[in-house]
Amino acid sequence: MFSDLQRDLNQCAALGLLRQRRTLSSPQSPHIVVDGKHYLSFCSNDYLGLANHPQLVAALQQGAAQWGAGAGAAHLVCGHIEPHHRLEQELAAFVGKPAALLFSTGYMANLGTVQALVGKGDTVFADKLNHASLNDAMLLSRAEVKRYRHSDMAQLAALLEQTKSGRKLVITDAVFSMDGDLAPLPELLALCEQHDAWLLADDAHGFGVLGEQGRGSLFNSMPPIGQKEKGEGGREKGNNSAPSPSPLPPSPFPADSPRIIYMATLGKAAGVFGAFVAAERVVIDTMVNHARSYVYTTATPPALACAVLESLQLIGQGDALREHLYKLIARLRGGLAGLRWELMPSDTAIQPLLVGDNQAALALSEGLRERGIRVAAIRPPTVPQGTARLRITLSAAHSENDVEQLIGALHELAQ
Ligand SMILES: *Cc1c(COP(=O)(O)O)cnc(C)c1O
Repeated sequence: MFSDLQRDLNQCAALGLLRQRRTLSSPQSPHIVVDGKHYLSFCSNDYLGLANHPQLVAALQQGAAQWGAGAGAAHLVCGHIEPHHRLEQELAAFVGKPAALLFSTGYMANLGTVQALVGKGDTVFADKLNHASLNDAMLLSRAEVKRYRHSDMAQLAALLEQTKSGRKLVITDAVFSMDGDLAPLPELLALCEQHDAWLLADDAHGFGVLGEQGRGSLFNSMPPIGQKEKGEGGREKGNNSAPSPSPLPPSPFPADSPRIIYMATLGKAAGVFGAFVAAERVVIDTMVNHARSYVYTTATPPALACAVLESLQLIGQGDALREHLYKLIARLRGGLAGLRWELMPSDTAIQPLLVGDNQAALALSEGLRERGIRVAAIRPPTVPQGTARLRITLSAAHSENDVEQLIGALHELAQ
């Protein structure tokens, strides 16, 4: 059995698919230390640079001093502690929903939400490029699964049309994690209205970054990239054309539609750990009772909730951070225009450079590493076959000079 395992690993390695961890000897930041060497990093999801923010560290320390290290029990037993409760209320208010529920991780939030809302006899409709946690969630729910081509609303409409009985739940990344593009939320919502379906929007990469005060994708008025081509003035269209995004105007989007079940994570832009789901009260009550990944697990340390409460303040006041981030995105896209690898169409902090071949993506990542820069090569099965890429992520903690260094190194490697 052991040699079987080793054979599988060797096969992965031969295909350029072996995954290995790198141990950081520094806190998360654009400047990290690995194996004793300093690197400029474009790998993390710490989009606002809050993961090592002194105010969050202080809130975590004070939270631990007041509330202890561990919650000691599940929420439904006796582990639901004041900071958890206060955080749920503030998160719900921040994203404009009646109620919210904290989960330990985004992965668990998706598993629990889908499984609590649908089961045998129901149907889940899912974008083919959804995050692995949504894919696992729909399989675990035992509902019937219908997947539609990435952001293909015509196909989704047809699938909804064919489905005559049971509950219907459409699940989607709001910002696609490996592509950086936006789900067409207004169109998705319209289809859900028409076919009496719920819409679960996973905003792991939009919360804190998009929308007014960082309230996330439901408050974002940036049009999805495909639609810009229909004559949106001034904005970028397609690949490699320079500058684009700017801080966003207020949303015309019906953020308060009761059909929308909003999920976001707290370990990315929020800089801490955990996740939450915000929705109508009856949906949240249902999850408290039936979401197995909520009921059968220990509550997160209450000090984490203290740190997230502090993070919410910084996110709300973070317009300058977001403006800086959007400037960096525009600079990167301008600087990489015309490079031999295609920068995928994205207006967000996720800027994937499409390489295609697994080994070539690894080699490019390695070339950057030799130049003191870390960018992760993302390969199948995380992304479809033949679409291996460098997933460049920008953070408000990067300087313009950091971005210039990356642009310079990629131009060197292109030759
Ligand atoms: C990161 C991520 C998750 C998982 O969140 P964790 O808190 O890291 O478990 C879920 N959905 C999407 C789209 C993600 O990118």
